[in-house]
Amino acid sequence: MYAEVQTIERLSPSMIRVVLGEGTLDQFETTSATDAYINAQFPPEGSPVSVPFERTELDGLPAELRPRPRRFTIRNWDSNKRQLAIDFVAHGDDGYAGTWAQRARPGDRLQFSGPGGSYRPSPDVDWHLLAGDESALGAIGASLESLPAGRQALVFAVVDGPEHEIDLPTEADATVVWLHRRTAADPETLLHDAVSATRFPDGTFDVFLHGEAGEVRSTRRHLVADRGVDPSNASISPYWRRDHTDEAWRQSKRQWLAAQARDV
Ligand SMILES: Cc1cc2nc3c(=O)[nH]c(=O)nc-3n(C[C@H](O)[C@H](O)[C@H](O)COP(=O)(O)OP(=O)(O)OC[C@H]3O[C@@H](n4cnc5c(N)ncnc54)[C@H](O)[C@@H]3O)c2cc1C
Repeated sequence: MYAEVQTIERLSPSMIRVVLGEGTLDQFETTSATDAYINAQFPPEGSPVSVPFERTELDGLPAELRPRPRRFTIRNWDSNKRQLAIDFVAHGDDGYAGTWAQRARPGDRLQFSGPGGSYRPSPDVDWHLLAGDESALGAIGASLESLPAGRQALVFAVVDGPEHEIDLPTEADATVVWLHRRTAADPETLLHDAVSATRFPDGTFDVFLHGEAGEVRSTRRHLVADRGVDPSNASISPYWRRDHTDEAWRQSKRQWLAAQARDV
């Protein structure tokens, strides 16, 4: 399916909200997951492929001209307007998806499949732990919005600095701890160090932990080894890996996940 860019909004220097509508969104079927994501296709510069395209159009096309698949979380689905909102990290001039969002103009088209996704805050626990970096803020924001008034949530969000913090509206009783890379002694251990130094609320909790692979892995190790989190009952996975394109990351991801499972 495909949709057209309706609006583009800078949420912070590093986050861009793109709202998509029209196209074939009348056929879009939503899911109850608050980490629902689409698998979008980004034709590289110079590619003869234009959206919408058929799979058969890619036959015989050299690898460097094929659209690059990238996963992005649905920040919001407006079923009345049939519009999808996605929060893209603007992470510089490298790559395809981030640069697409930085250059997006109304009318630009995006082709995608999905949605996938599996997490939704459990109504059966006392509170929710939500942690990650900018790439997970779409899912964290959608999760917070789904929580009823008064429900407790503890959020750890890694961003570059105070001007990169974004609004996370919720009726829940949420404490958001913003962690700033720029002033951190070691940005790569920032998430782990903050989570492990925090006294958790009493009671049972569920876990949503996603973002950069190394940060997710060290924080997962702590949660499982020291906090008694059952990894088979927690939503924990790396979304991207520092110094790896998504193609390179997907090649090593299986081994990484196997090693991560052996950590604890
Ligand atoms: C299920 C799922 C949901 C996701 N949801 C979102 C989402 O809602 N919003 C979002 O922005 N991302 C999201 N991501 C992450 C996104 O798919 C990756 O960050 C992807 O690599 C971006 O593609 P790109 O073409 O911009 O960069 P790539 O071509 O993959 O990479 C180019 C360079 O940029 C670096 N890079 C990639 N992502 C980041 C980043 N976030 N910060 C800093 N450097 C980076 C890479 O390490 C590499 O060095 C999600 C990933 C998954 C698996």
